[in-house]
Amino acid sequence: MRTPVVAGNWKMNKDQSGSLELARGVAAGVRDMRGVDIVVAPVSLYLAGVASALKGTNVAVSAQNMHWAEHGAYTGENSPTMLQDVGCGYAIIGHSERREYFFETDEMVNQKVRSALSHDLTPILCIGETLEEREAGKTISKVDFQVRAALSGVSHDDAPKVVIAYEPIWAIGTGRTATPEQAQEVHAQIRKLLGELYGPGIAQQIRVLYGGSVKADNIAELISQTDIDGALVGGASLSVESFVAIARACAR
Ligand code: PEP
Repeated sequence: MRTPVVAGNWKMNKDQSGSLELARGVAAGVRDMRGVDIVVAPVSLYLAGVASALKGTNVAVSAQNMHWAEHGAYTGENSPTMLQDVGCGYAIIGHSERREYFFETDEMVNQKVRSALSHDLTPILCIGETLEEREAGKTISKVDFQVRAALSGVSHDDAPKVVIAYEPIWAIGTGRTATPEQAQEVHAQIRKLLGELYGPGIAQQIRVLYGGSVKADNIAELISQTDIDGALVGGASLSVESFVAIARACAR
């Protein structure tokens, strides 16, 4: 039985006091929740403060990005050891906004995934197709390519630690969610591919989240699908009420 994950990607929102307020509100709202892994991802500047505010709670902290190197001349970046140092347990990797606006390649995503795993950080690996790709019937080939590229060199031992977030790009921040059936179809294909790569036993252990305009009022249908193991939430993670409601709907 896979424990669902609900991760809130705050993106470049919330200032210092707003981040702490949101973190504390979420922690209070999910205090008694079991059967779901809850994660919040503030901007890197506030990771340390949020992690310290959440110490001892059941809310884990994620970076929104990380470099693969431990240190070096990489202006503006944060290393896996630095993220560990401030109390992060997760790192979102290969978000479509990073791929699109910061030109992250599949090769970079693969280096980041492998580095996160070797530093005991749980990678939340984001994949997904554009609207053009979906309309051209290329959804499955795109996610297949992205998963293979991102997991290249990831061992059978490490594979179950990876969390995959299927996020159709056309559904991110648009209010347009994939239907539960559309999402399930892609999730099932991802799990089939994971079975080819690692065997069915390991494929059954890997959490595959859905992301793209998830809200409190559409999560129940999504999470009821066989291969949807939680959600990566953008906009709706900025309010305690909606994020806590999404987490509650996913708790098993
Ligand atoms: C995201 O950016 O990962 C995301 C899913 O955003 P939203 O929920 O706002 O569509």
